[in-house]
Amino acid sequence: MSAAGARPDPRTQGGGKAYRNFIGGEWVASESGRTTPNLNPADTREMLGLVPLSTADEARRAVDAARAAYPAWRSTPPPKRGAILFKAMALMDAEKDALARLLTREEGKTVKESLGEIQRTINILEYTAAEGRRLGGQTIPSELPSNFCYTVRQPLGVVVCVTPWNFPVAIPVWKMAPALVSGNTVVFKPATLTPETSGAVVSIFERAGVPKGVLNMVLGSGGTVGNALVDHPDVRAISFTGSNEVGAEIYSRGAKRMVRVQCEMGGKNPVIVLADADLDLAVESTAQGAFGSTGQRCTATSRVIVEEAIADAFVERLVARSKKVKIGSGLDTGIDMGPAVDKSQLETDLKYIAIGQDEGAKLCGGGRRREEGALAHGHFVEPTVFDHVTPAMRIAQEEIFGPVISVIRVKGFEEALAAANDVRYGLAASIFTRDPSAIFRFADDIEAGIVHINSGTPGGEAQLPFGGTKATGVGPREQGPTALEFYTEVKTVYVDYTGQARKSSIY
Ligand code: NAP
Ligand code: MG
Repeated sequence: MSAAGARPDPRTQGGGKAYRNFIGGEWVASESGRTTPNLNPADTREMLGLVPLSTADEARRAVDAARAAYPAWRSTPPPKRGAILFKAMALMDAEKDALARLLTREEGKTVKESLGEIQRTINILEYTAAEGRRLGGQTIPSELPSNFCYTVRQPLGVVVCVTPWNFPVAIPVWKMAPALVSGNTVVFKPATLTPETSGAVVSIFERAGVPKGVLNMVLGSGGTVGNALVDHPDVRAISFTGSNEVGAEIYSRGAKRMVRVQCEMGGKNPVIVLADADLDLAVESTAQGAFGSTGQRCTATSRVIVEEAIADAFVERLVARSKKVKIGSGLDTGIDMGPAVDKSQLETDLKYIAIGQDEGAKLCGGGRRREEGALAHGHFVEPTVFDHVTPAMRIAQEEIFGPVISVIRVKGFEEALAAANDVRYGLAASIFTRDPSAIFRFADDIEAGIVHINSGTPGGEAQLPFGGTKATGVGPREQGPTALEFYTEVKTVYVDYTGQARKSSIY
């Protein structure tokens, strides 16, 4: 457990085993009596704690607490709200080493990757905290004399944030921080696979001074807790990141109540490598994009579309690079790639590796589960390279979310672009070339929300918008200058200081 020394940790109960919910500013034990174990994916003999499967009533209580806290938070000046986020940023920075180890133990990514995620989160807090001093509208001229017109951005009320397990620090914060600085109150439903990291993030906001009820967290299943939150009549908006299946369900439930829904979902992110590319750079970026975080990033590289003229050389180098990836517990030094997050994700990875072989793709590297020695009790799979994949194959179309990369060979730029766009998703995409014409045509015509030129598909900076098109995303982009759009409403104000009735009303 993350409890410091012998002191009881308020976030857990029952001998420090079951995690608590955070409702109305208190860490409260779930009354459901039902739990599921939280296991270390690198060694499932280690149980970190028990996750309560909270009830729909508990979810509703969290919404009640958020609703009660809303009027006071709404009228707190935005720079004061921002100051609390700055405090959260400082706390996270001071605690980042312990938080990184917890994140690795719970989710499986390497400590280096965990530290990268936490630094990104610190940057997001820095950017968003300062929005408290920028939150403004516009002044717009009136067609009448002595009339002053302006807009203000106002909060929505209670918003719900539903998040996945793969970035359990960054994603909750990139939703909650803009929601809070704008004056909304929040109910947070984290992924059941990462409850302890989620509690640690909430604890940082609590200690930073977020008032009671302004931020609440309820642990439990998507079916019970998630649905109770999404359907609650007092919830004004839902921001979701996760799979397309769940996102589609939430979107349609929200539409029935006419509330705002923002969904960021799956990806099948392509890299194009043209014959004039810097081959070493392209190979290294593809490997990092495909195998980094065990392929469990929404922006992971899962297809690499290579011009035939260099394809043999590219594949040879990529396979050689994949064999250098050191697999093991992310807590150990010298490890490049941790385990799949759980048994079900491991089975999905292995299932798609079998599908690729059945479809006639050529397995050139990896492809096996690893269970020898220290790997015996974890969900480890090899970095896997498929060559001669065609765009129609399932491994080229469906999100695997594992360290599996498909090489698609093409004759030139046009065919590469067509193959890159031939999927339902549209999150991130890259091209490696020195040809300015290809670079700008790619930037114009690739169907993706995030485009990289001569760098890999993952990554992004806190001050830039993040999100996808097509089946990947609906709603305004998260992060950067667009982050507040989802969490605020524009109000238009007309001030007539003539002191006279209008002679005619046009509208
Ligand atoms: P998921 O299975 O869709 O779950 C996401 C969250 O939704 C979890 O908290 C889950 O709870 C909850 N949930 C499940 N059913 C629900 C329901 N009916 N109502 C409300 N909430 C419900 O996704 P995941 O497996 O955690 O994450 C992997 C997926 O996330 C991948 O597809 C990946 O591409 C995507 N992702 C996208 C982005 C992006 O920005 N585009 C970023 C990261 C990840 P439980 O944990 O209890 O099931
Ligand atoms: Mg899932």
